[in-house]
Amino acid sequence: MTPAYVWIDGGLTPWNEAHVHVTALGWSTMSGVFEGIKAYWNDSDGQLYGLQFKEHYDRFARSMKMMRMETSFTPDDLSRASAQLLQANECREDNYVRPLAYFADVTWFGSARGERTSIVIHTAPFKSGLGSGRTVRACVSSWTRIGENQLSPRIKCISNYQNSRMALLEALQDGYDQPILLNSVGKVTEGPASCLFIVRDGVAITPSLTSGILESVTRSTILRLCRETLQIPTQEREIDRTELYVADEAFFCGTGAEIQPIRDVDHYSIGDGSVGPITTQIEAAYHAMVRGRTPSFRGWRVPIYQTAVVA
Ligand code: PMP
Repeated sequence: MTPAYVWIDGGLTPWNEAHVHVTALGWSTMSGVFEGIKAYWNDSDGQLYGLQFKEHYDRFARSMKMMRMETSFTPDDLSRASAQLLQANECREDNYVRPLAYFADVTWFGSARGERTSIVIHTAPFKSGLGSGRTVRACVSSWTRIGENQLSPRIKCISNYQNSRMALLEALQDGYDQPILLNSVGKVTEGPASCLFIVRDGVAITPSLTSGILESVTRSTILRLCRETLQIPTQEREIDRTELYVADEAFFCGTGAEIQPIRDVDHYSIGDGSVGPITTQIEAAYHAMVRGRTPSFRGWRVPIYQTAVVA
C-alpha cells in the first residue's frame, strides 16, 4: 500500500510520478538533510495529530543552514505542506512524515553557491511501540561517535548516519538491539537514531547538548515533561560509560524510537531488568501527550483534519 501523493517543491505529485533520473543518484544526496516527524491517530477524537512540526522544521532549517542550502520554503510553509500531504493521503493511523532536502543537480561535492535545493516530503504508516512493554538490549559500541570538528552530529544530514549504521550493524551482529556510542573523550553520547537518558537516585540524566549529539526534539520534550508535569529532577551533563552499568533505569528516546527502555548494557542488568518506575511515568506522559489524550502541551500537536490547507 503506497500513499497517493508525495510533496515535492511546493506541490502534491502522485506517488507513481514522483521520479528522479538515475544519474541523480550518488553525490546529490551526500549533503542531504532530513527529518523524522510523527503523526499520531486518536480514535476517540477521530483526529490525527501532527507532532511538533514547528520544532522539527526549525531544526530542518538549521541543518540546511549549516550545509549552506538555500530554500524559499519557511518552516511554516513546510508544516502546512506536511498537514496538506497527510490530509491528501487520507492518513488515519500513526504515520511517519519524512522530509528530505538535497542538492538536486550536483554530480560532485555541491560546492558551488546557489545550487538548486529540492525538498521532498513523504508519509508512511508507522506502528507505535508506546505502552507495549518492549525493552531493548544495548552495548557500548567500539565505534566512536563522530565529533563537532569532523562531522557535527548537530546536523541531521544523511552522511552522518554512516557512523550510526556501522555501530548498529556491529551491535546487531553481536546479538544486541542497539549500540550506545561514546565520544572521543569516552563520554556517553547517544544511540544510532535516538538520544539517551539514565536514572540515578531519582534523577533523570541525559548528556548535554555539547556532548556530540543531535539536538533531539524528544529529549527536550522529556526534559519539559519531567520539569513541568512530573516533578522529576533532571540533569544535562557528561555521563561516564560505567554510569550506564550502575544506572537504576535507562532508556533511548526519539521521534522514531519513542521511549525505548533498556534492559541491559554490555550484559550489566539495568535495575532488575524490568521497566523502572520513572521510565514508566515518562513513557505514559509522553504517550498521553503525543496522542492528544491530555489537554496539556496543545501547541505541540497539529490537528490534521482541522487545518485549513491552502493548496
Ligand atoms: N539522535 C539521532 C542520531 C537521531 O537520528 C535521532 C532521531 N531523529 C535522535 C537523536 C532523536 O531526535 P528526535 O527526538 O528529534 O527525533
